[in-house]
Amino acid sequence: MEPISYWIHKRAFITPERTALISDKNKYTYKELSERIELMAALLQKKYLLQKGDRIAILSNNREEYLISYFAIAQLGLIAVPLNIRLTAQELTFQINDSGTKTIIYEEETADLYDAICNHIKFENAFRFGDEESILDTTVKQVNIDAANDPFIICYTSGTTGRPKGAVLTQENMFWNAINCQYAIDITSKDKVIVLLPLFHIGGIGLFAFPTLLIGGTVIIPGKFDPGNTIQTIEEMAVTIVMGVPTIHDAIRKHHLFETANFSSVRWFYSGGAPCPKELLNAYLERELPFGQGMGMTETAPTIFMLSREDYQSKVGSIGKPAMFCDILIVDDEGNQVKNGEIGELLIKGPNVMKEYWGLPEQTKEAIREGWFYSGDLMRQDEEGFIYVAGRKKDMVISGGENIYPLEVEQVINELPQVNEVAVIGVEDEKWGEVPIAFVSLNNGEMISEKEIKSYCLMKLAKYKVPKKVIVMEDIPKNATGKIDKKELNKNLLSR
Ligand code: AMP
Repeated sequence: MEPISYWIHKRAFITPERTALISDKNKYTYKELSERIELMAALLQKKYLLQKGDRIAILSNNREEYLISYFAIAQLGLIAVPLNIRLTAQELTFQINDSGTKTIIYEEETADLYDAICNHIKFENAFRFGDEESILDTTVKQVNIDAANDPFIICYTSGTTGRPKGAVLTQENMFWNAINCQYAIDITSKDKVIVLLPLFHIGGIGLFAFPTLLIGGTVIIPGKFDPGNTIQTIEEMAVTIVMGVPTIHDAIRKHHLFETANFSSVRWFYSGGAPCPKELLNAYLERELPFGQGMGMTETAPTIFMLSREDYQSKVGSIGKPAMFCDILIVDDEGNQVKNGEIGELLIKGPNVMKEYWGLPEQTKEAIREGWFYSGDLMRQDEEGFIYVAGRKKDMVISGGENIYPLEVEQVINELPQVNEVAVIGVEDEKWGEVPIAFVSLNNGEMISEKEIKSYCLMKLAKYKVPKKVIVMEDIPKNATGKIDKKELNKNLLSR
């Protein structure tokens, strides 16, 4: 298969004058977008001398250049390492070192974070979006790319083992995700899709920037998320598909413009990335807006399920059926398929499943067995094959669409000499879906305040991972096998 950049250039050849991309600064036809991709590719190849397989980190908010660089990276067979700008310099340093990245692109707004990373790392190349120097010779030397096997993006997901793991996605993974999205919600050349998810997450490019460009529609990149601006953009540009995590949809519906806004152009409000509270679903449905859920993960590029337009009113709360080119199984602990209505772990097989975890052959073998990816998510299927999320096997908290692995937070709190034991759990939160709460027991005679524990966490972890509450207990409850009993902690919290 050709690299994904090829399909954008081909689209530019077929429909050169159609609008491809609208950002807060510019508007591009397919022809112009294709030229910008060539320009960026020429810069990376000729000025920075990057070669196939080189990693290139991106530290930026959403902006047009971000999307453009993904395609330039694809064209040259480079490997993108998109960085979550909410992480600390220390957390990002790990990802940059782990992936062996020597080149970074940042922007004015992330310059301080970039400087902080530079205290730990010496990059060979670094430049800022917006400062790309013009380059005279823009002919790009062709690179041979194996779209099915060459790594294209390394997306770091927080690891249950306490260290983040780099999910390696190929260009073919992205291609099949695009096809799956097009089939599932009938994306056409008439669609205008707004990108509200961060482009450092696989959702930003996969839902639905690339599927929309492939089919000749229009992608809108408004920059940083703001609910009021989003509503205005939807109205002014007659946006047809609005994808977001629940926290984004919640911010939109709570905005004072929501009730009176003209959403007649929108044919699909679409939520994924974290459990969508019933109340939020109903707020859209009561306003007679088409609102449905899907479900995906970084490791599956990301789409696995999508509820279709036919079913969103009769199957409220379901994430739909598996995408066309993606198969699933729901199994018990012995690996046997469970009966309809019973809960089991979701396994996924398809051309959208990642190649591997970067540099972690053991973890890859553990995660992908006989072609099936073990998701750690618990699901249940009804008689008609509609799927409902039932929980998570893996110990993970999802706050505002960001994953938090309690172990990572626990390890940081454990570094404090006063702390004897710590357990972090997620509790429901109206705004964020879930927030982390820490339970701590102290060593004999030691004292430390909630505030001190939180400020220590803030130094070491992204803000969204810092526990919203720290509860000091004499002893942390354990189950029969001596493991911390998180269910008991949940009960303890409810009884407060
Ligand atoms: P990420 O890799 O950051 O995309 O996170 C993937 C995880 O988010 C999945 O394994 C699920 O646990 C969770 N998730 C994604 N979509 C949904 C959804 N619609 N409902 C509940 N959980 C979801």
